[in-house]
Amino acid sequence: MKYKNPKYRKIRNCFPLEVSCGSCKTPILIYAKGGKGNLIKLQTPRIIESEVNLEEHEGNLFCINCKEELAKKGKYNGNVTYWIIRGKVNSRRLNNY
Ligand SMILES: [Zn+2]
Repeated sequence: MKYKNPKYRKIRNCFPLEVSCGSCKTPILIYAKGGKGNLIKLQTPRIIESEVNLEEHEGNLFCINCKEELAKKGKYNGNVTYWIIRGKVNSRRLNNY
């Protein structure tokens, strides 16, 4: 991916998840996911790397390829967080990342 996230903080018991556009399947970012639930939000300190420069990114998250809107920018626990729009992204666990 193009950009390493300088705000990423390693947390125990997380696994890397590749998050991609649900429409055109373009990978957008790698996320450190904890727990078993569905992916509903992307907290910035858990984003490992991305194709979008999040440091300079304003507003909602769009697919870099087809421009589909994927997530809405908001806040969670004081961190910038992208709330995934239902059904707009695919994710898959990376086993040898
Ligand atoms: Zn797309």
